[in-house]
Amino acid sequence: MKVIHSIQEMKAWRREQRAQGKTIGLVPTMGYLHEGHLTLMRQAKKQCDLVVASIFVNPIQFGVGEDYEDYPRDLSRDVALAEGANVDVIFAPAVADMYLQGFQTTIEVAEVSQPLCGQSRPGHFRGVATVVTKLLNIVAPDQAFFGQKDAQQAAVLQRMVADLNMDVSINVVPIVREADGLALSSRNVYLSPEERQAALVLSGSLKQAEDMVADGVVNVQEIRARVENLIAAEPMANIDYVQLLALPNLTEEAVLAERNLLAVAVRFGKTRLIDNIILEAAHV
Ligand code: AMP
Repeated sequence: MKVIHSIQEMKAWRREQRAQGKTIGLVPTMGYLHEGHLTLMRQAKKQCDLVVASIFVNPIQFGVGEDYEDYPRDLSRDVALAEGANVDVIFAPAVADMYLQGFQTTIEVAEVSQPLCGQSRPGHFRGVATVVTKLLNIVAPDQAFFGQKDAQQAAVLQRMVADLNMDVSINVVPIVREADGLALSSRNVYLSPEERQAALVLSGSLKQAEDMVADGVVNVQEIRARVENLIAAEPMANIDYVQLLALPNLTEEAVLAERNLLAVAVRFGKTRLIDNIILEAAHV
């Protein structure tokens, strides 16, 4: 496995592989890899000849007062883990190379970026869409792989790729969870043992919503309120949002659509966790 820091070297490698007819899969990450990231990499390897995993903590997707400085970083650990997942190249560019002095071009996906994390993290999806566009331009993969864990991010990027005729197919991989239901996240290392235990209310409440839908409930407010009440009953949980929106455009509806995203963002101490589930209504 190669570790490439230079953008020019990354492009040269990609041109060489392309000339040999190899297909390339890209897995963008912010590093501090866990089994969720590794699942994306293994999936990419199944679908493509070669896999590039990028590791870049992208400053422009963090807001003022967020955890950019504190975000966990450990490149040597990441390199060992990615090697075990058969990654061919780790691409870890420097911030100063990605954002040259005078940088001023960004990508805005207008509507899908608005609800959910768009409300609590203004500018976040502009940062995500911009960095992913840059990574796609540098690596020029045939396919790119993202996690359902960041469901709104996946929706924003699918919209962007379609709107801008980008020549890449977007794959969305299901959420990888701990045995007890907690969705894997690099930010889980911030949690105290008590907070980690309390955080199980997220996956637990999403599961209850799934059971309600299986029982035939289609009223969006009823399902959303149930989840909100379950989370609010956990004393350590501080709700940012609990939202149930119709896919693919994340619109508000009174009754469940064919596919719906139930998404939650909740703080436990200083740690903000997100989780979600896709609800498919049987009646539609
Ligand atoms: P991050 O490093 O947090 O930016 O995540 C990089 C990619 O891994 C994103 O596409 C995430 O959605 C995905 N990812 C993170 N956690 C998980 C998880 N628990 N299951 C599946 N994919 C995940």
